[in-house]
Amino acid sequence: MRYRNSLQRATLRPTSPQRAPGNHLHAMVIPWPAPPAFFPLLRLLVPFLLFWLMLAASGWAYTFQNTGLYQSYNNLSAWANTLQSQNPNLVRVVQYGTSYQGNPLLAVNITVDPAADNPNKPEFLFAGGIHAREVIGSEAALKIAENLVNGYRNGDPLYQNMLSTRDVWIIPQQNPDGRLAVEAGRSDHRKNMHLYPGQIANHVTCGVDLNRNYPHLWNLASDYVPHETYRGPSVLSEPEAYSLWNLLHDQSKFSNLLASVDFHSGATTILTPWSSPTDYAQHQNQIPLAVRNKFASLAAALQQKTGFPTDRLTYDYYGTESDSLFEEFDSYSMTIELYNGGNPLYNVDDYFQYFNPVDAAARDATVKKAVDSALYLLSDAAFAVPEPATLVLLAAAGLILLALVRRRRNP
Ligand SMILES: [Zn+2]
Repeated sequence: MRYRNSLQRATLRPTSPQRAPGNHLHAMVIPWPAPPAFFPLLRLLVPFLLFWLMLAASGWAYTFQNTGLYQSYNNLSAWANTLQSQNPNLVRVVQYGTSYQGNPLLAVNITVDPAADNPNKPEFLFAGGIHAREVIGSEAALKIAENLVNGYRNGDPLYQNMLSTRDVWIIPQQNPDGRLAVEAGRSDHRKNMHLYPGQIANHVTCGVDLNRNYPHLWNLASDYVPHETYRGPSVLSEPEAYSLWNLLHDQSKFSNLLASVDFHSGATTILTPWSSPTDYAQHQNQIPLAVRNKFASLAAALQQKTGFPTDRLTYDYYGTESDSLFEEFDSYSMTIELYNGGNPLYNVDDYFQYFNPVDAAARDATVKKAVDSALYLLSDAAFAVPEPATLVLLAAAGLILLALVRRRRNP
């Protein structure tokens, strides 16, 4: 979610050391200090510094390509189709739209007998990649899907019950065009690639911030076209956003969205509605107390799983996907910020490792937090969902009761 504008970036640049006032030519007698004890250390340090300078001068930086740790967008379709062909009674691939540049928007639906569209099963959505450079969120969504399928195939009763009673939807890459730009080396790209007047093609200014294009308080988001958080010319103006919105309103697929997570990076925190600090301060009372309490207990459990805090970010953000899903569907929709590399952002070369782990161990540890979060939200501990057998029994009991009442009314 995080962004920096160029002004903030500029103020973060290290300033050149201040020259001492006065005429330095007069300072001719400089006493050489006593042989320093750290001299051998210094001799070790110099080659290291030279090496570092060489790297900096060569422009070497972590990128999507050279880390080789993440699945590419071009692989998504093959990955999803393989998952489906190997598990036809558990997985269904749905193309829910097409991006601005014509790339398929793909969702993976995971549930026992996915084609049945059973309205009794509540839906859960796990999505990533709305911000192009936040690649780790996409990886997290992919691994959630694989974890669910593998758990079910291994015959684990926990997974078998979970996927008999719940309808899980995974959308790993919500912004294919922006993602392809990142994969081509533009590690700082966040928005989609829809070029508007006032923007520069194939440049970081190009596009709309899809996580500012959704309805909730959209009018308060940035209307400054070149900005990283440009909201777009109208609510849901972007195909990547309105296609998801339409999918969620398609009653044949979504009849009861119970919870969702939109995975991001750039920070580590769990954001529940209203996710923006000022919005929360001013409008939290719009949310029924019971719902606020439920969100708080979910966030506390997720904090246990991830070690992340539940603090809102320090700046305001409007038109976000998860706040809008909550507003529209009364779903337990939230944002989880998975990772922050901690390095300063001076130029484009610094972005990849700021938003994404750059070694396999850190990637796997981060992905595990996302998988654990999803498994918690899909558990009975988070939401008790009656088993199908229980539903049949309840329906039968209801019919008998109805028959008894009718007999009493018409003796
Ligand atoms: Zn983000």
